[in-house]
Amino acid sequence: MNGRPSISASRDSVNFRYFKKNMQSIAALLPLFSQANLVRQPCDGIMLYSFATPQAPYVFQEVERSKTRSIFIAGGPHPTACPEETLGFFDYVVLREGEETLPELIDALRNGKDISQVKGIAYKDKTKIIFTEKREPIVLDNYPPFDPNVMHSSIEITRGCPFSCAYCQTPQLFGHGMRHRSIDVISRYAKFLGDVRFTSMLRCLIP
Ligand code: SF4
Repeated sequence: MNGRPSISASRDSVNFRYFKKNMQSIAALLPLFSQANLVRQPCDGIMLYSFATPQAPYVFQEVERSKTRSIFIAGGPHPTACPEETLGFFDYVVLREGEETLPELIDALRNGKDISQVKGIAYKDKTKIIFTEKREPIVLDNYPPFDPNVMHSSIEITRGCPFSCAYCQTPQLFGHGMRHRSIDVISRYAKFLGDVRFTSMLRCLIP
């Protein structure tokens, strides 16, 4: 994209660009890869970004200015809401949940498989933007909230929301059906946390 040498970039290394606001996403995605790096700037290889709208201008600028041999993949709230804009800077957008889509996309890139068969992504084909088939929501218990040997993070106990508050993207990201992590899995991971508090959707209950 944008004159960067993404096509010939190394597909060997997987690098998560981390910053304070995306650590929960990264904690959930890191266990999907046996070897992945946390980086503070673009580097050669596959570069993964997860971000929301307030971080988008900075992220876009960083990617645009990058001189590395990278394949840039974006996911998270902003890329899911604005894939066309994001593809002005990135090579691929993972739409909605990344747990199944991201490993499949990286496997396709590394092994020369047909990208159009990877569900749940958007990418550019010449001047046209291609959206592949939508992927079904994941089962939360199939994916750990974090790898306790690598980092601790908050435990996402529920995904999805039946409501549609105008200012919130949760239903677009995760659907209107609610899915829950089982109590067994929550307790297993809560043991790794020193300070356990629970929060839930209260906004819709406040008049
Ligand atoms: S109830 Fe909460 S999670 Fe659901 S749409 Fe409204 S703000 Fe978002």
